[in-house]
Amino acid sequence: MLKLYNTLSRKVEDFVPINTPKVGLYTCGPTVYNFVHIGNLRTYIFEDILQRVLEADSYEVNRVINITDIEDKIIKKAEEERVSIEVITKPYEQAFLENLQKLNIKSANVYPRATEHIGKMIKYIEVLIEKGLAYVEKDGSVYFDISKFPEYGKLSQLDKREIKAGARVKADEYSKEDVVDFALWKAVGSDEIGYDSPWGKGRPGWHIECSVMSQEYLGDTFDIHAGAVDLIFPHHENEIAQSEGKTGKKFANFFIEGEHLLVDGQKMAKSLGNFFTLKDIEAKGFDPLAFRYLVLTAHYRDKLNFTWESLQAAQNALNNLREIIRDWPSSVIASPEGVRQSYYQKFMSAVNNDLNIPQALAVMWDMVKSDNPTSAKAKSILEMDKILGLKLDEYLGKKLEIPEEVQKLVNQREQARKSGDFKKSDELRHEIKKLGFEIEDTPQGPKIKIDKQPS
Ligand code: AMP
Ligand code: ZN
Repeated sequence: MLKLYNTLSRKVEDFVPINTPKVGLYTCGPTVYNFVHIGNLRTYIFEDILQRVLEADSYEVNRVINITDIEDKIIKKAEEERVSIEVITKPYEQAFLENLQKLNIKSANVYPRATEHIGKMIKYIEVLIEKGLAYVEKDGSVYFDISKFPEYGKLSQLDKREIKAGARVKADEYSKEDVVDFALWKAVGSDEIGYDSPWGKGRPGWHIECSVMSQEYLGDTFDIHAGAVDLIFPHHENEIAQSEGKTGKKFANFFIEGEHLLVDGQKMAKSLGNFFTLKDIEAKGFDPLAFRYLVLTAHYRDKLNFTWESLQAAQNALNNLREIIRDWPSSVIASPEGVRQSYYQKFMSAVNNDLNIPQALAVMWDMVKSDNPTSAKAKSILEMDKILGLKLDEYLGKKLEIPEEVQKLVNQREQARKSGDFKKSDELRHEIKKLGFEIEDTPQGPKIKIDKQPS
């Protein structure tokens, strides 16, 4: 039985879908005004793990990742550069999808764009106005009236006294101190980028986008809404108010929010300028999957401090794992009984216990280090990798083919070493490295590996 921590109850609960075996999973997507950073990507990796665990438990996941392609920062950039918003957003959307692929994150079933749902957002807001939950201001902006939704604050457990009835905020992001009416529709000037609406020219607020797109693809009530912890307030709180206010039904049964990636103890954020992108990681010679491995070493509800040293350690661990399983039987001859192995069962109990991936990784390493490799172990590691997503099938049982040229240099280096010519031996090691290989001296003699270390 899968157990997941639900922010709504602040408890670990049994996960029971509304319509088994189907599971609706909505995950707030990127605002495409810049490249996503590896902090954002930590969240998409955690959500990918969630999807993979659900699938290992035989659920069929319908995953929605929205693309926020209309938003104040995007519009500002488009107006400054005097181009349409697509010119700004499209390259970043493309780069985002490429990042997901490099990190072996499964594709969503649908990536709805906010700009393609403006008509639906307007209709949605009209219903909220009809129900008395929203009001139109003189300038043509529409606000949600939080005093009309008594359950406001239930997700973020806001102290009711903080609520400033009648005060308004037009910005999409604001602090917990500002518990005020929020914008559903923002009026804009006639020369600004916007859309026609019954209230005049304007554009939607960020929160309404996610209510409309999640319910459009997953129904009024769906199973899981996920994101990072910074979205609990105001974003997810406001989505609940809009959605439950409109339908009178529960919005999502589970809210699951992952912790942040930090740098020097601070949240990695575009606004703080302390961020790295996947490109930065690749430029230093790291494999994107080493970053995925690093993320797997922390529980999703724990903060993870990013350092280059920890990324290097993750890369080393991944390299070791790959090298070890090259000598294992290949999957082709692996027996299906393998999956009933006790290691696999222990692994699954860990992941089903609120996605305890660090523990699951430890079980995997116990298995890797135990006894001799067998077909059962080979089969188990492939099953485990359906969740870890480290592409281990590309290494399992695939002995490294060493080019003749490299083998020759390795032999020469051995000779040099044996005759005590360490200078020459070092030079040869360098040459071998240039060809993409690395030598590890073991008691059994030199071992040749693919060089995955940044030089
Ligand atoms: P944004 O593009 O800022 O809206 O963020 C996209 C997703 O990444 C959201 O779920 C954010 O909460 C999440 N996110 C932003 N910064 C971080 C971080 N440092 N660590 C983890 N997730 C983050
Ligand atoms: Zn959202």
